Amino acid sequence: MRLSRYFLPVLKEDPADAQIVSHRYMLRAGMIKQAQAGIYSWLPLGFKVLKRIEEIVHEEQVRAGHIPMLMPTLQSADLWRESGRYEDYGEEMLRITDRHGRGMLYGPTNEELITDIFRTHVSSYKDLPLTLYHIQWKFRDERRPRFGVMRGREFYMKDGYNFDIDKAAALHAYNRHLVSYLRTYERMGLQAIPMRADSGPIGGDDTHEFLVLAETGESEVFYDSAVTDLTFGDREIDYDSVAQCQSILEEFTSKYARTDETHDEALFDKIPEERRRTARGIEVGQIFYFGTKYSDAMGATVQGPDGKPVPVHMGSHGIGVSRLAGAIIEASHDDKGIIWPEGVTPFHCGIVNLKQGDAEADAACENLYLQLTNAGLEPLYDDRDERAGGKFATMDLIGLPRRITVGPRGLKNGVVELTSRKSGESEELTPDAAIAKVAAIYGKE
Ligand code: ATP
Ligand code: MG
Repeated sequence: MRLSRYFLPVLKEDPADAQIVSHRYMLRAGMIKQAQAGIYSWLPLGFKVLKRIEEIVHEEQVRAGHIPMLMPTLQSADLWRESGRYEDYGEEMLRITDRHGRGMLYGPTNEELITDIFRTHVSSYKDLPLTLYHIQWKFRDERRPRFGVMRGREFYMKDGYNFDIDKAAALHAYNRHLVSYLRTYERMGLQAIPMRADSGPIGGDDTHEFLVLAETGESEVFYDSAVTDLTFGDREIDYDSVAQCQSILEEFTSKYARTDETHDEALFDKIPEERRRTARGIEVGQIFYFGTKYSDAMGATVQGPDGKPVPVHMGSHGIGVSRLAGAIIEASHDDKGIIWPEGVTPFHCGIVNLKQGDAEADAACENLYLQLTNAGLEPLYDDRDERAGGKFATMDLIGLPRRITVGPRGLKNGVVELTSRKSGESEELTPDAAIAKVAAIYGKE
Protein backbone atom coordinates (compact mmCIF):
# COMPACT_ATOMS: atom_id res chain seq x y z
CA MET A 1 0.00 0.00 0.00
CA ARG A 2 1.16 3.50 -0.82
CA LEU A 3 0.42 5.89 2.00
CA SER A 4 -0.50 8.67 -0.45
CA ARG A 5 -3.44 6.52 -1.60
CA TYR A 6 -4.37 5.01 1.76
CA PHE A 7 -6.82 6.22 4.39
CA LEU A 8 -4.86 6.69 7.58
CA PRO A 9 -6.34 9.60 9.53
CA VAL A 10 -3.66 9.96 12.23
CA LEU A 11 -4.23 12.49 15.00
CA LYS A 12 -1.40 14.73 16.17
CA GLU A 13 -2.89 15.42 19.59
CA ASP A 14 -3.89 13.00 22.30
CA PRO A 15 -7.67 12.59 22.35
CA ALA A 16 -8.96 13.95 25.63
CA ASP A 17 -11.47 11.21 26.38
CA ALA A 18 -9.11 8.23 26.08
CA GLN A 19 -7.92 7.07 29.49
CA ILE A 20 -5.67 4.19 28.60
CA VAL A 21 -2.80 3.90 26.20
CA SER A 22 -4.34 1.37 23.80
CA HIS A 23 -7.43 3.52 23.34
CA ARG A 24 -5.28 6.61 22.83
CA TYR A 25 -3.04 4.96 20.25
CA MET A 26 -5.90 3.29 18.40
CA LEU A 27 -7.54 6.69 17.95
CA ARG A 28 -4.29 8.49 17.16
CA ALA A 29 -3.16 5.86 14.66
CA GLY A 30 -6.47 6.14 12.82
CA MET A 31 -7.50 2.55 13.62
CA ILE A 32 -10.97 3.21 14.99
CA LYS A 33 -13.58 5.91 15.28
CA GLN A 34 -16.28 5.92 17.89
CA ALA A 35 -19.75 5.77 16.38
CA GLN A 36 -21.66 5.75 19.67
CA ALA A 37 -20.69 4.90 23.24
CA GLY A 38 -19.00 1.49 23.08
CA ILE A 39 -19.59 1.11 19.33
CA TYR A 40 -16.78 1.65 16.85
CA SER A 41 -16.05 1.83 13.17
CA TRP A 42 -12.88 -0.03 12.32
CA LEU A 43 -10.94 2.20 9.94
CA PRO A 44 -8.64 0.51 7.39
CA LEU A 45 -5.60 0.10 9.65
CA GLY A 46 -7.64 -1.16 12.59
CA PHE A 47 -9.64 -3.45 10.32
CA LYS A 48 -6.41 -5.04 9.09
CA VAL A 49 -5.29 -5.80 12.63
CA LEU A 50 -8.73 -7.17 13.50
CA LYS A 51 -8.55 -9.48 10.47
CA ARG A 52 -5.03 -10.67 11.37
CA ILE A 53 -6.21 -11.55 14.87
CA GLU A 54 -9.27 -13.28 13.45
CA GLU A 55 -7.13 -15.28 11.02
CA ILE A 56 -4.94 -16.63 13.81
CA VAL A 57 -8.00 -17.57 15.84
CA HIS A 58 -9.48 -19.43 12.84
CA GLU A 59 -6.25 -21.24 12.04
CA GLU A 60 -5.80 -22.48 15.58
CA GLN A 61 -9.44 -23.53 15.92
CA VAL A 62 -9.33 -25.50 12.69
CA ARG A 63 -6.01 -27.04 13.77
CA ALA A 64 -7.74 -28.27 16.94
CA GLY A 65 -10.47 -29.93 14.83
CA HIS A 66 -13.20 -27.35 15.42
CA ILE A 67 -15.58 -26.45 12.61
CA PRO A 68 -16.23 -22.85 11.52
CA MET A 69 -19.72 -21.59 10.68
CA LEU A 70 -21.69 -18.36 11.03
CA MET A 71 -24.78 -17.59 13.06
CA PRO A 72 -26.76 -14.34 12.86
CA THR A 73 -26.43 -11.43 15.27
CA LEU A 74 -30.22 -11.16 15.76
CA GLN A 75 -31.85 -13.98 17.65
CA SER A 76 -35.35 -14.95 18.66
CA ALA A 77 -36.57 -14.10 22.15
CA ASP A 78 -38.59 -17.33 22.22
CA LEU A 79 -35.46 -19.41 21.94
CA TRP A 80 -34.00 -17.65 24.96
CA ARG A 81 -37.23 -18.20 26.88
CA GLU A 82 -36.66 -21.95 26.50
CA SER A 83 -33.42 -21.78 28.44
CA GLY A 84 -34.82 -19.26 30.90
CA ARG A 85 -32.17 -16.72 30.06
CA TYR A 86 -34.44 -14.22 28.33
CA GLU A 87 -35.51 -13.00 31.76
CA ASP A 88 -32.27 -13.85 33.59
CA TYR A 89 -29.83 -12.00 31.37
CA GLY A 90 -30.84 -8.56 32.60
CA GLU A 91 -30.18 -5.14 31.19
CA GLU A 92 -27.09 -6.12 29.26
CA MET A 93 -29.32 -7.73 26.65
CA LEU A 94 -30.53 -5.47 23.87
CA ARG A 95 -34.13 -6.43 23.21
CA ILE A 96 -35.77 -5.48 19.93
CA THR A 97 -39.29 -5.86 18.54
CA ASP A 98 -39.89 -6.34 14.81
CA ARG A 99 -42.83 -4.91 12.82
CA HIS A 100 -44.94 -7.96 13.64
CA GLY A 101 -44.40 -7.46 17.34
CA ARG A 102 -42.06 -10.44 17.62
CA GLY A 103 -39.39 -10.31 20.28
CA MET A 104 -35.82 -10.42 19.12
CA LEU A 105 -32.49 -9.68 20.70
CA TYR A 106 -28.99 -8.81 19.54
CA GLY A 107 -27.04 -11.87 20.65
CA PRO A 108 -24.70 -11.43 23.61
CA THR A 109 -23.63 -15.09 23.15
CA ASN A 110 -25.01 -18.11 21.27
CA GLU A 111 -25.65 -21.14 23.50
CA GLU A 112 -29.37 -21.22 22.69
CA LEU A 113 -29.00 -20.80 18.94
CA ILE A 114 -26.33 -23.46 18.60
CA THR A 115 -28.25 -25.88 20.82
CA ASP A 116 -31.26 -25.39 18.56
CA ILE A 117 -29.15 -26.18 15.48
CA PHE A 118 -27.76 -29.22 17.22
CA ARG A 119 -31.13 -30.64 18.32
CA THR A 120 -32.52 -30.18 14.81
CA HIS A 121 -29.76 -32.04 13.02
CA VAL A 122 -27.95 -34.41 15.35
CA SER A 123 -29.61 -37.46 16.80
CA SER A 124 -26.98 -40.13 17.31
CA TYR A 125 -23.94 -40.49 19.55
CA LYS A 126 -22.12 -41.56 16.38
CA ASP A 127 -22.07 -37.93 15.24
CA LEU A 128 -20.13 -36.91 18.36
CA PRO A 129 -17.76 -35.41 19.32
CA LEU A 130 -18.65 -32.15 17.60
CA THR A 131 -17.32 -28.64 18.13
CA LEU A 132 -18.77 -25.77 16.10
CA TYR A 133 -17.66 -22.18 16.35
CA HIS A 134 -18.12 -18.81 14.74
CA ILE A 135 -16.62 -15.36 14.91
CA GLN A 136 -19.41 -12.85 15.03
CA TRP A 137 -20.39 -9.46 16.47
CA LYS A 138 -22.03 -9.51 19.86
CA PHE A 139 -23.90 -6.86 21.75
CA ARG A 140 -23.97 -6.38 25.49
CA ASP A 141 -25.39 -3.15 26.80
CA GLU A 142 -22.54 -2.69 29.27
CA ARG A 143 -23.25 -0.28 32.10
CA ARG A 144 -19.88 1.41 31.58
CA PRO A 145 -18.49 0.96 28.10
CA ARG A 146 -14.95 2.31 28.27
CA PHE A 147 -11.34 1.91 27.25
CA GLY A 148 -12.20 1.90 23.56
CA VAL A 149 -12.61 -1.58 22.10
CA MET A 150 -11.62 -3.21 25.39
CA ARG A 151 -15.07 -2.84 26.89
CA GLY A 152 -17.35 -2.11 24.00
CA ARG A 153 -21.07 -2.64 23.74
CA GLU A 154 -20.74 -4.10 20.26
CA PHE A 155 -17.70 -6.36 20.08
CA TYR A 156 -16.30 -9.17 17.95
CA MET A 157 -16.02 -12.55 19.59
CA LYS A 158 -15.08 -16.05 18.69
CA ASP A 159 -17.46 -18.39 20.44
CA GLY A 160 -17.28 -22.15 20.14
CA TYR A 161 -19.52 -24.90 21.48
CA ASN A 162 -18.67 -28.53 22.07
CA PHE A 163 -21.16 -31.39 22.11
CA ASP A 164 -20.08 -34.65 23.69
CA ILE A 165 -21.59 -37.91 24.82
CA ASP A 166 -20.47 -37.67 28.46
CA LYS A 167 -18.56 -35.60 30.95
CA ALA A 168 -15.19 -37.23 30.24
CA ALA A 169 -15.45 -36.49 26.53
CA ALA A 170 -16.60 -32.92 27.22
CA LEU A 171 -13.65 -32.37 29.54
CA HIS A 172 -11.34 -33.45 26.74
CA ALA A 173 -12.97 -30.78 24.58
CA TYR A 174 -12.36 -28.31 27.41
CA ASN A 175 -8.69 -29.28 27.57
CA ARG A 176 -8.38 -29.10 23.79
CA HIS A 177 -9.69 -25.56 23.88
CA LEU A 178 -7.26 -24.62 26.61
CA VAL A 179 -4.35 -25.91 24.53
CA SER A 180 -5.53 -24.23 21.34
CA TYR A 181 -5.97 -20.94 23.19
CA LEU A 182 -2.42 -21.08 24.56
CA ARG A 183 -1.15 -21.41 20.99
CA THR A 184 -3.48 -18.70 19.73
CA TYR A 185 -2.35 -16.04 22.18
CA GLU A 186 1.32 -16.87 21.81
CA ARG A 187 1.07 -16.41 18.05
CA MET A 188 -0.16 -12.89 18.77
CA GLY A 189 2.92 -12.22 20.86
CA LEU A 190 0.94 -12.38 24.10
CA GLN A 191 1.27 -14.25 27.32
CA ALA A 192 -2.27 -15.04 28.45
CA ILE A 193 -2.39 -16.99 31.71
CA PRO A 194 -5.25 -19.42 32.31
CA MET A 195 -6.75 -18.64 35.70
CA ARG A 196 -9.54 -20.27 37.66
CA ALA A 197 -12.57 -18.09 37.39
CA ASP A 198 -16.26 -17.71 38.00
CA SER A 199 -18.78 -18.74 35.34
CA GLY A 200 -21.27 -15.84 35.57
CA PRO A 201 -24.47 -16.03 33.48
CA ILE A 202 -23.10 -18.81 31.23
CA GLY A 203 -23.31 -21.27 34.15
CA GLY A 204 -21.26 -24.34 35.13
CA ASP A 205 -18.41 -25.15 37.52
CA ASP A 206 -15.36 -25.69 35.35
CA THR A 207 -14.06 -22.51 33.88
CA HIS A 208 -10.79 -20.74 33.21
CA GLU A 209 -10.24 -17.21 32.06
CA PHE A 210 -7.17 -16.22 30.07
CA LEU A 211 -5.58 -13.06 31.37
CA VAL A 212 -2.96 -10.77 29.94
CA LEU A 213 -1.17 -8.98 32.76
CA ALA A 214 -1.46 -5.20 32.44
CA GLU A 215 -1.82 -2.36 34.91
CA THR A 216 -4.90 -1.14 33.09
CA GLY A 217 -6.64 -4.52 33.28
CA GLU A 218 -10.08 -4.57 34.86
CA SER A 219 -9.63 -7.84 36.76
CA GLU A 220 -7.69 -8.26 39.96
CA VAL A 221 -5.60 -11.43 39.80
CA PHE A 222 -3.50 -13.46 42.20
CA TYR A 223 -0.83 -15.87 41.03
CA ASP A 224 2.37 -17.74 41.67
CA SER A 225 5.06 -15.95 39.62
CA ALA A 226 6.24 -19.37 38.39
CA VAL A 227 3.28 -19.42 35.96
CA THR A 228 4.85 -16.61 33.98
CA ASP A 229 7.82 -18.88 33.14
CA LEU A 230 5.59 -21.28 31.19
CA THR A 231 5.49 -21.04 27.42
CA PHE A 232 3.80 -23.28 24.92
CA GLY A 233 6.31 -22.67 22.13
CA ASP A 234 6.01 -24.59 18.90
CA ARG A 235 5.49 -28.04 20.32
CA GLU A 236 3.58 -30.47 18.14
CA ILE A 237 0.35 -31.61 19.66
CA ASP A 238 -2.15 -34.27 18.76
CA TYR A 239 -5.49 -32.74 19.64
CA ASP A 240 -7.13 -36.17 19.66
CA SER A 241 -4.81 -37.34 22.39
CA VAL A 242 -6.66 -37.16 25.69
CA ALA A 243 -3.44 -37.70 27.64
CA GLN A 244 -1.49 -34.97 25.84
CA CYS A 245 -4.19 -32.33 26.23
CA GLN A 246 -4.71 -33.29 29.86
CA SER A 247 -1.01 -33.05 30.64
CA ILE A 248 -0.78 -29.59 29.07
CA LEU A 249 -3.78 -28.45 31.07
CA GLU A 250 -2.08 -29.72 34.22
CA GLU A 251 1.19 -28.05 33.33
CA PHE A 252 -0.48 -24.69 32.81
CA THR A 253 -3.05 -24.78 35.61
CA SER A 254 -1.40 -26.55 38.52
CA LYS A 255 0.32 -23.41 39.82
CA TYR A 256 -1.87 -20.95 41.70
CA ALA A 257 -3.50 -18.40 39.36
CA ARG A 258 -6.96 -17.05 40.10
CA THR A 259 -9.15 -14.04 39.54
CA ASP A 260 -10.57 -12.25 42.58
CA GLU A 261 -13.90 -14.10 42.33
CA THR A 262 -12.28 -17.45 43.12
CA HIS A 263 -9.26 -16.22 45.07
CA ASP A 264 -8.48 -18.26 48.19
CA GLU A 265 -6.22 -16.53 50.74
CA ALA A 266 -5.33 -19.74 52.54
CA LEU A 267 -4.11 -21.43 49.36
CA PHE A 268 -2.35 -18.29 48.20
CA ASP A 269 -0.42 -18.12 51.48
CA LYS A 270 1.06 -21.55 50.81
CA ILE A 271 3.04 -20.15 47.86
CA PRO A 272 6.57 -19.08 48.91
CA GLU A 273 6.28 -15.38 49.70
CA GLU A 274 8.72 -14.18 47.06
CA ARG A 275 6.57 -15.78 44.35
CA ARG A 276 3.19 -14.38 45.45
CA ARG A 277 1.87 -11.80 43.05
CA THR A 278 -1.19 -9.56 43.08
CA ALA A 279 -1.70 -7.73 39.81
CA ARG A 280 -4.23 -6.66 37.24
CA GLY A 281 -5.16 -8.45 34.06
CA ILE A 282 -7.19 -8.14 30.87
CA GLU A 283 -9.54 -11.05 30.20
CA VAL A 284 -8.99 -12.09 26.58
CA GLY A 285 -10.84 -15.41 26.67
CA GLN A 286 -12.76 -17.87 28.76
CA ILE A 287 -13.62 -21.56 28.53
CA PHE A 288 -16.53 -23.29 30.24
CA TYR A 289 -17.81 -26.79 30.80
CA PHE A 290 -21.44 -26.63 31.88
CA GLY A 291 -22.63 -30.19 31.39
CA THR A 292 -26.29 -30.58 30.39
CA LYS A 293 -27.57 -27.15 31.45
CA TYR A 294 -28.76 -26.16 27.96
CA SER A 295 -29.38 -29.62 26.57
CA ASP A 296 -31.73 -30.43 29.46
CA ALA A 297 -33.60 -27.14 29.13
CA MET A 298 -33.88 -27.35 25.35
CA GLY A 299 -34.19 -31.11 24.84
CA ALA A 300 -30.90 -31.69 23.02
CA THR A 301 -30.45 -35.44 23.32
CA VAL A 302 -28.78 -38.06 21.19
CA GLN A 303 -29.42 -41.75 21.00
CA GLY A 304 -26.70 -43.47 23.03
CA PRO A 305 -25.00 -46.81 22.15
CA ASP A 306 -27.76 -48.68 24.00
CA GLY A 307 -30.50 -46.92 22.04
CA LYS A 308 -31.58 -44.74 24.97
CA PRO A 309 -31.66 -40.93 24.68
CA VAL A 310 -28.95 -39.09 26.58
CA PRO A 311 -28.60 -35.32 26.99
CA VAL A 312 -25.41 -34.02 25.43
CA HIS A 313 -22.65 -32.55 27.54
CA MET A 314 -21.64 -29.12 26.41
CA GLY A 315 -19.16 -26.34 26.96
CA SER A 316 -18.62 -22.94 25.44
CA HIS A 317 -15.40 -21.16 24.70
CA GLY A 318 -14.86 -17.51 23.88
CA ILE A 319 -12.08 -15.30 22.64
CA GLY A 320 -12.42 -11.52 22.67
CA VAL A 321 -11.22 -10.85 19.13
CA SER A 322 -11.82 -7.07 19.13
CA ARG A 323 -10.67 -6.68 22.73
CA LEU A 324 -7.41 -8.38 21.75
CA ALA A 325 -6.48 -5.49 19.46
CA GLY A 326 -6.43 -3.26 22.53
CA ALA A 327 -4.86 -5.86 24.81
CA ILE A 328 -1.95 -6.39 22.43
CA ILE A 329 -1.25 -2.65 22.45
CA GLU A 330 -1.44 -2.52 26.24
CA ALA A 331 1.20 -5.26 26.30
CA SER A 332 3.39 -3.85 23.53
CA HIS A 333 4.00 -0.11 23.12
CA ASP A 334 6.34 2.69 24.12
CA ASP A 335 5.99 6.45 24.40
CA LYS A 336 6.15 6.87 20.62
CA GLY A 337 3.37 4.48 19.77
CA ILE A 338 2.36 0.91 19.14
CA ILE A 339 4.87 -1.93 18.67
CA TRP A 340 3.04 -4.68 16.77
CA PRO A 341 4.15 -8.26 17.29
CA GLU A 342 4.96 -9.80 13.87
CA GLY A 343 1.95 -12.14 14.09
CA VAL A 344 -0.67 -9.39 13.96
CA THR A 345 1.04 -6.42 12.31
CA PRO A 346 -1.20 -4.63 9.77
CA PHE A 347 1.71 -4.30 7.31
CA HIS A 348 4.87 -6.35 7.40
CA CYS A 349 7.21 -3.45 6.95
CA GLY A 350 7.31 0.27 6.29
CA ILE A 351 9.29 2.01 3.57
CA VAL A 352 10.25 5.62 4.22
CA ASN A 353 11.46 7.72 1.33
CA LEU A 354 13.54 10.55 2.80
CA LYS A 355 13.51 12.55 -0.40
CA GLN A 356 10.35 12.09 -2.37
CA GLY A 357 10.86 13.38 -5.89
CA ASP A 358 14.54 12.44 -6.03
CA ALA A 359 14.73 10.14 -9.04
CA GLU A 360 17.13 7.68 -7.46
CA ALA A 361 15.38 7.52 -4.08
CA ASP A 362 11.98 7.12 -5.76
CA ALA A 363 13.27 4.32 -7.98
CA ALA A 364 14.91 2.49 -5.07
CA CYS A 365 11.68 2.70 -3.05
CA GLU A 366 9.58 1.47 -5.97
CA ASN A 367 11.93 -1.43 -6.39
CA LEU A 368 11.80 -2.34 -2.67
CA TYR A 369 8.02 -2.09 -2.78
CA LEU A 370 7.78 -4.37 -5.78
CA GLN A 371 10.21 -6.96 -4.48
CA LEU A 372 8.68 -7.13 -1.00
CA THR A 373 5.26 -7.53 -2.60
CA ASN A 374 6.56 -10.25 -4.90
CA ALA A 375 7.95 -12.05 -1.85
CA GLY A 376 4.37 -12.28 -0.55
CA LEU A 377 4.69 -9.40 1.93
CA GLU A 378 2.60 -6.27 2.41
CA PRO A 379 4.74 -3.16 2.74
CA LEU A 380 3.42 0.29 3.58
CA TYR A 381 5.33 2.82 1.50
CA ASP A 382 5.31 6.38 2.81
CA ASP A 383 5.54 8.14 -0.54
CA ARG A 384 4.11 11.43 0.67
CA ASP A 385 5.98 14.66 0.14
CA GLU A 386 6.60 15.26 3.84
CA ARG A 387 9.46 15.94 6.22
CA ALA A 388 11.45 12.92 7.36
CA GLY A 389 10.59 13.69 11.00
CA GLY A 390 6.86 13.51 10.31
CA LYS A 391 7.24 10.27 8.37
CA PHE A 392 9.22 8.66 11.21
CA ALA A 393 6.68 9.80 13.79
CA THR A 394 3.83 8.23 11.80
CA MET A 395 5.74 4.96 11.36
CA ASP A 396 6.57 4.86 15.08
CA LEU A 397 2.96 5.57 16.01
CA ILE A 398 1.46 2.86 13.81
CA GLY A 399 4.11 0.44 15.05
CA LEU A 400 5.16 -1.71 12.08
CA PRO A 401 7.88 -4.08 13.33
CA ARG A 402 10.43 -3.07 10.64
CA ARG A 403 11.09 0.07 8.67
CA ILE A 404 13.34 0.49 5.65
CA THR A 405 14.60 4.03 5.23
CA VAL A 406 15.80 5.13 1.82
CA GLY A 407 17.73 8.34 1.14
CA PRO A 408 20.07 9.73 -1.49
CA ARG A 409 23.06 9.67 0.87
CA GLY A 410 22.78 5.96 1.66
CA LEU A 411 22.06 5.09 -1.94
CA LYS A 412 25.38 6.65 -2.97
CA ASN A 413 27.01 3.85 -0.95
CA GLY A 414 24.48 1.31 -2.19
CA VAL A 415 22.72 0.95 1.16
CA VAL A 416 19.38 1.50 2.88
CA GLU A 417 18.65 1.40 6.59
CA LEU A 418 16.67 -1.37 8.26
CA THR A 419 15.29 -0.43 11.68
CA SER A 420 13.57 -2.54 14.30
CA ARG A 421 10.62 -0.75 15.91
CA LYS A 422 11.05 -2.70 19.12
CA SER A 423 14.78 -2.29 19.79
CA GLY A 424 15.22 0.91 17.79
CA GLU A 425 18.40 -0.58 16.33
CA SER A 426 19.30 0.15 12.73
CA GLU A 427 21.68 -1.47 10.28
CA GLU A 428 22.85 -0.48 6.85
CA LEU A 429 22.28 -3.10 4.21
CA THR A 430 22.02 -3.35 0.47
CA PRO A 431 18.35 -3.21 -0.62
CA ASP A 432 18.49 -6.92 -1.54
CA ALA A 433 19.87 -7.88 1.86
CA ALA A 434 17.20 -5.78 3.59
CA ILE A 435 14.46 -7.51 1.59
CA ALA A 436 15.92 -10.94 2.36
CA LYS A 437 16.08 -10.12 6.04
CA VAL A 438 12.48 -8.91 6.26
CA ALA A 439 11.29 -11.89 4.19
CA ALA A 440 13.13 -14.30 6.50
CA ILE A 441 11.44 -12.81 9.60
CA TYR A 442 8.07 -13.77 8.13
CA GLY A 443 9.21 -17.15 6.78
CA LYS A 444 8.96 -15.96 3.16
CA GLU A 445 12.49 -16.73 1.99
P1 ATP B 1 -16.10 -9.41 31.19
O1 ATP B 1 -15.97 -10.11 32.51
O2 ATP B 1 -14.85 -8.69 30.76
O3 ATP B 1 -17.34 -8.57 31.11
P2 ATP B 1 -17.27 -11.79 30.23
O4 ATP B 1 -16.66 -12.76 31.16
O5 ATP B 1 -18.65 -11.34 30.47
O6 ATP B 1 -16.30 -10.52 30.09
P3 ATP B 1 -17.38 -13.83 28.16
O7 ATP B 1 -18.80 -14.15 28.12
O8 ATP B 1 -16.44 -14.74 28.85
O9 ATP B 1 -17.17 -12.32 28.73
O10 ATP B 1 -16.89 -13.50 26.66
C1 ATP B 1 -15.73 -14.03 26.05
C2 ATP B 1 -14.71 -12.97 25.77
O11 ATP B 1 -15.26 -11.87 25.06
C3 ATP B 1 -14.14 -12.34 27.03
O12 ATP B 1 -13.11 -13.14 27.56
C4 ATP B 1 -13.63 -11.02 26.53
O13 ATP B 1 -12.33 -11.16 25.99
C5 ATP B 1 -14.59 -10.68 25.41
N1 ATP B 1 -15.55 -9.66 25.88
C6 ATP B 1 -16.56 -9.81 26.76
N2 ATP B 1 -17.23 -8.67 26.95
C7 ATP B 1 -16.64 -7.75 26.14
C8 ATP B 1 -16.88 -6.36 25.89
N3 ATP B 1 -17.87 -5.71 26.49
N4 ATP B 1 -16.07 -5.74 24.99
C9 ATP B 1 -15.09 -6.40 24.37
N5 ATP B 1 -14.81 -7.71 24.57
C10 ATP B 1 -15.57 -8.37 25.46
MG1 MG C 1 -15.56 -14.16 30.71
